[in-house]
Amino acid sequence: MTTPWWRHLLPGRCLLCQAALPPEADPDVCGYCLDALPWNEPACPRCGLPLLQAGARCRDCARRRPPCSITVAPLRYEAEAALWVRRLKDRAGMVEGRTLGVLLAQAVQRRYQQSPALRRPDLLAPVPLGWWRLARRGHNQAITLAVPVARALGVPLARSLLTRHGGVRQRGSSRARRLNQPANVFRCRRRWEPPGPCVALVDDVITTGATAAAAARTLIDAGAAEVHVLAATRTPPPDAPG
Ligand SMILES: [Zn+2]
Ligand SMILES: [Zn+2]
Repeated sequence: MTTPWWRHLLPGRCLLCQAALPPEADPDVCGYCLDALPWNEPACPRCGLPLLQAGARCRDCARRRPPCSITVAPLRYEAEAALWVRRLKDRAGMVEGRTLGVLLAQAVQRRYQQSPALRRPDLLAPVPLGWWRLARRGHNQAITLAVPVARALGVPLARSLLTRHGGVRQRGSSRARRLNQPANVFRCRRRWEPPGPCVALVDDVITTGATAAAAARTLIDAGAAEVHVLAATRTPPPDAPG
């Protein structure tokens, strides 16, 4: 990724340990702190679920193919990564948002470079918030994360391709209820004739995968040929070791 011009005038400091950074450092995290982040590796290539062994799909994806063909979720929703997501969401933390967005963009670029047969997305669609949450929060964190990804991939960002109508609250609701979240909480503003585009959904955190799956199904029903899910973080399963 290219160095922003202002970094040559204002050398950055590591967001975590305050160490001075070279102008070309992007994101604003030193190498030591980058290594200490809760990287989501290995993970299920389809749904991003943290796994113990590389190269396999998780049990759920082996049993039933999810509507998205790949998920890139570079960090586990733990430690600093979880703190950054919460600051981005609750306090519109732009430094944290940019850092997560750049880490996501770098992970997405690596994934497409490692898999040349994989179709590249034609457009990015941030997962929308319901109107009440958008009104209360004043911003959609998924758009903040999608901006550096769209720039890195050179694809358009369709900010309002999807809209959200109601739905089960994620926080505080049980896993079983969230998995039963109805698919029709999302609407797609466009219809495509075959062959439709490959659309990449962008979100901050995947918890059960129910929201991403519902949004992916909506896009496929609208004629998208393929859906990829790109999320900054993924929640480890409740029975994960450690
Ligand atoms: Zn540091
Ligand atoms: Zn999976």
